[in-house]
Amino acid sequence: MMDVTDHDVVIVGSGPAGLSAGIFTGRAGLDTLIVNDGTPILRRNAHLENYPGFPAGVNSRLLLDMMDDHAERAGCQRREARVVAIEPDDPGFVVETESNNTLTATSVIAATKNTVDFLEGINDVKLIERGKSFVKTDDRGRTGVPGLYAAGRLALQPYQTIIVAGHGASVGVAVVEDSDTPFYHDWVAPEGYFTGRNREVPPGCEEIDAEERQRRERESLNLMREYFAEPHPDDPIQHPSMRGE
Ligand SMILES: Cc1cc2nc3c(=O)[nH]c(=O)nc-3n(C[C@H](O)[C@H](O)[C@H](O)COP(=O)(O)OP(=O)(O)OC[C@H]3O[C@@H](n4cnc5c(N)ncnc54)[C@H](O)[C@@H]3O)c2cc1C
Repeated sequence: MMDVTDHDVVIVGSGPAGLSAGIFTGRAGLDTLIVNDGTPILRRNAHLENYPGFPAGVNSRLLLDMMDDHAERAGCQRREARVVAIEPDDPGFVVETESNNTLTATSVIAATKNTVDFLEGINDVKLIERGKSFVKTDDRGRTGVPGLYAAGRLALQPYQTIIVAGHGASVGVAVVEDSDTPFYHDWVAPEGYFTGRNREVPPGCEEIDAEERQRRERESLNLMREYFAEPHPDDPIQHPSMRGE
């Protein structure tokens, strides 16, 4: 039995679901490690045309790169490794990787689309077989094991990027809500929004003045120009059967 864990949260899988979850747990101040092996399936998409905010569509590989950077900026650490087992071990979980590394975490979010082998055999985790494998959860991604969550396609969400990303965010917030971290909303509000009404700025929220708002907007404009300055260098990845695999 361990006394303290290495991380508050380990997220397995760095597709849109896992990265979105990490953006919310990281921003809430939870020590978050995202472990991934392999390639998010969205890298196969040719042009992403149904992600809100991009009326003419967006290169899906660029969007994933931006989500990666966003998770890092939110404070998430990253590790390339294949997770092969998760074992509940009060007060959290032991996460084993293929290279025999052992990580410990208070909470684990599985966001691995249809890969469930590392979840097999855990009491109270219900796997669902529908041609592919999924994990049964409540609507916030909670499995039957306290502290163990599933997000995105793995949690039987519809097979669309915005939906799995939104579900990852919802699961990330569920982890925050289930932890000891004081939380209200992850909001940035203009100066006076709360304090001007004699209210404390709630936990998780921030008030910023006009100067800081303009600084952040300038930074955002500059960064977005860099992302969108040139076409993305990578082509879509073909289906494995087309690659002779
Ligand atoms: C050809 C194609 C085109 C598509 N086009 C669109 C579109 O136009 N619009 C749209 O909305 N959606 C589209 N989609 C669907 C979209 O890509 C998925 O809904 C979404 O990417 C699923 O995200 P996820 O985070 O649940 O899983 P994934 O993005 O697949 O992420 C899972 C990650 O976990 C990793 N992983 C798995 N097992 C382990 C393990 N044991 N240890 C560590 N890491 C592991 C995987 O390698 C992967 O990186 C398309 C999909 C395909 C195949």
